[in-house]
Amino acid sequence: MVKKEDVDFNNLGFDYLNLPYRYQAIYRDGDWQEEGLLTDNEMHISEAATALHYGQADFEGLKAYRTKSGQIQLFRPEENAHRMQKSCARLLMPQVSTKMFVDAVKSVVRANADFVPPYGNGATLYLRPIMIGVGDTLGVHPASEYIFRIFAVPVGNYFKGGLTPTNFTTSQYDRAAHKGTGQNKVGGNYAASLMPGEQAHQNGYSDCVYLDPIEHKKIEEVGSANFFGITKDNVFVTPKSDSILPSVTKYSLLYLAANNLGMQTKEGDVFIDQLDQFTEAGACGTAAVISPIGALEHEGNVHVFYSETEVGPVTQKLYELLTGIQFGDIEGPKGWILPVTE
Ligand SMILES: *Cc1c(COP(=O)(O)O)cnc(C)c1O
Repeated sequence: MVKKEDVDFNNLGFDYLNLPYRYQAIYRDGDWQEEGLLTDNEMHISEAATALHYGQADFEGLKAYRTKSGQIQLFRPEENAHRMQKSCARLLMPQVSTKMFVDAVKSVVRANADFVPPYGNGATLYLRPIMIGVGDTLGVHPASEYIFRIFAVPVGNYFKGGLTPTNFTTSQYDRAAHKGTGQNKVGGNYAASLMPGEQAHQNGYSDCVYLDPIEHKKIEEVGSANFFGITKDNVFVTPKSDSILPSVTKYSLLYLAANNLGMQTKEGDVFIDQLDQFTEAGACGTAAVISPIGALEHEGNVHVFYSETEVGPVTQKLYELLTGIQFGDIEGPKGWILPVTE
């Protein structure tokens, strides 16, 4: 188990640390039994757990932020609860109520409060709720028992650049099928994305951008973040598709672009051969926050958006607004911030 003194809060990447506490509940005989906070980071499960064989597993990701005055707060945690409910419904797993989800998140943050990084450099405490099918199941059908667990890890930047642009490449593979599980945060989508993601890394890219699984003509999203572009006419554009994961960050940016920056916004088709319309582009998600896309490689052609080394002005503004709200420097829309400590 890691000690607070051993954590270099100024140089955090996105790496697992075994913190003192995690929350767990077990679903058995049709009901959740809360075990509360545990210290053991290992889990003892049956070799016949459905999560291991049939991918009956989903997860969430959200962050706790330290404000300038030292308080700790969450950003729209109910949205993560709702999304997990949808993922669980798709995989025939039991529902965790919004209240149980949010209370459990808060308890993990409070128990590990020493590990919420200090205000100032963008570091946060990342919360990872998971649900897995467990118990003894051999045939292909849903498990009889489930574990809902939430652990926490202090993190810095997800992509190496932070707010400096990095380059991405399209993939010839798909992370999710049309009418598959792309809109749910399930482990299987990530299993399918590991190889294309590694290939992108080996070729010097931050990650790959997936195209629509039907024709490979439209941008869907990055492996772990949604895509947005800013057009020459200052419109915030982001793909709309049933096979992309509805990002809380993306919908927050859509709202802020329209309501705080007075921009037009559009969720619609983003054709890979029409990137010229954009002056800026970025990847957005809880882990990625906003990562500017410097250039996008596709079938040997490299399209540079704003610059491969500098952040565009609209991306910069959106970043400051979003993180300003998350860290408590700017008042956000009603209901977006949930205090964990008073
Ligand atoms: C989690 C995730 C995102 C980002 O969603 P946020 O709610 O903004 O964190 C984007 N794409 C995929 C595939 C994801 O799993």
